[in-house]
Amino acid sequence: EVSDRQLAYVHKIIDLEPIVGADVIEIATVLGWRVIVKKGLYKVGDLVVYVEIDSLLPPWNYFISDRLDKCNFKIKTIKMRGQLSQGYCIPIKELLNHPHKQLKAVYHEEENIDSGVKEIHRVDREETVLKIEIGSNVTEFIGIKKIQDHHGGGGGGNNIFKRIKSNGMSPFPSFLVKSDQPRIQNLPHYMETYEDVEFEVTEKLEGSSITAYHNNGKTGICSRNYELKHTTETAESEIFTTLVGRLDILKRLEEAKINVALQGEIIGPKIQGNIYGLPETQYKVYDIYLIDSNRYATQPERVDIMNTIGLKWDDHGVPFLGVHKIGGKKLSDILDMANGFSQLKGSKPKVLREGIVFKSNTLRHDRVIHFKSISNQYLLKK
Ligand code: ATP
Ligand code: MN
Ligand code: MN
Repeated sequence: EVSDRQLAYVHKIIDLEPIVGADVIEIATVLGWRVIVKKGLYKVGDLVVYVEIDSLLPPWNYFISDRLDKCNFKIKTIKMRGQLSQGYCIPIKELLNHPHKQLKAVYHEEENIDSGVKEIHRVDREETVLKIEIGSNVTEFIGIKKIQDHHGGGGGGNNIFKRIKSNGMSPFPSFLVKSDQPRIQNLPHYMETYEDVEFEVTEKLEGSSITAYHNNGKTGICSRNYELKHTTETAESEIFTTLVGRLDILKRLEEAKINVALQGEIIGPKIQGNIYGLPETQYKVYDIYLIDSNRYATQPERVDIMNTIGLKWDDHGVPFLGVHKIGGKKLSDILDMANGFSQLKGSKPKVLREGIVFKSNTLRHDRVIHFKSISNQYLLKK
């Protein structure tokens, strides 16, 4: 199935830098991503198809002449000549050569001089038009899939979901949201737009996302994508024994009569390889959604709510790494900050953390500004 994450899109090459000692490659910057490209293939200002890491490209030899891979092509974080490279660039004109399955397509390219928008018409039974402008999503056109990791979904690879799966799940409640943390590389303008904002920085834990909510007397537990039914069988799963049994979260929320959803990461044995080496399952809250106001709580509001329900943020929140302004910093500084070991209490020593998450301490345009910075040290090890 094609990914719902936007993995390939059209953007501008904003910079090209030589690599010392390299004759055939150079470093291009697209948005906040740095990626190795063939030297001389692009000039600054060119539109290009940028393909993000975690992409699985269809057999490549069809439309990139100098690559002969016959199988799917994985886009990962790599290091070449001491240079980090993330993603892959495809010249716009190569889209014209895209075979798009076995269809006998006829392509032509038109340029609308006024708007700078290029349109690629693919003529088969019905004519389809692919608009080529900054931001155009070509993930589906190219047929890119996401390299599967073990989290999210119904919990593939996470044994804590086994017991629940057999018992069925219901749809994710419509009054809640499934949050995604966008990558700072896709939002490089934040570095200026939010230069004065104070951000709470927390560690991004690697487990599985679990939501516990109370809404007008109704309570429930959800995985990333489903509400989990509470039955005699599922009650024995680590999810329920930890959140309901040990922490008693649903009752606490119900008694406080607040319409909120705690969103946290469940970590420990049987979850994502238990990278922290924990002897027992733990639940660490990373966000609180305010159902009546349709927005996430700020850090002070979160601490308040946790106090109200008698679970201290310091003990039950994700590891806190400080308050930081991003003004005056470079994007590369934000990426470097992500490198390092996990600060989770009780973790075995020297576990490389996946990354860090920034959340504004105050509201901007009535919402919390947030983004993630994934550790390149971690990505290279993976
Ligand atoms: P991917 O998009 O690569 O599948 P992902 O599944 O980890 O990554 P993201 O959108 O990258 O999802 O990040 C958000 C998820 O990260 C949350 O759903 C939550 O499960 C997890 N998380 C762990 N620690 C934190 C934290 N400190 N703040 C926010 N989210 C966190
Ligand atoms: Mn995601
Ligand atoms: Mn995750």
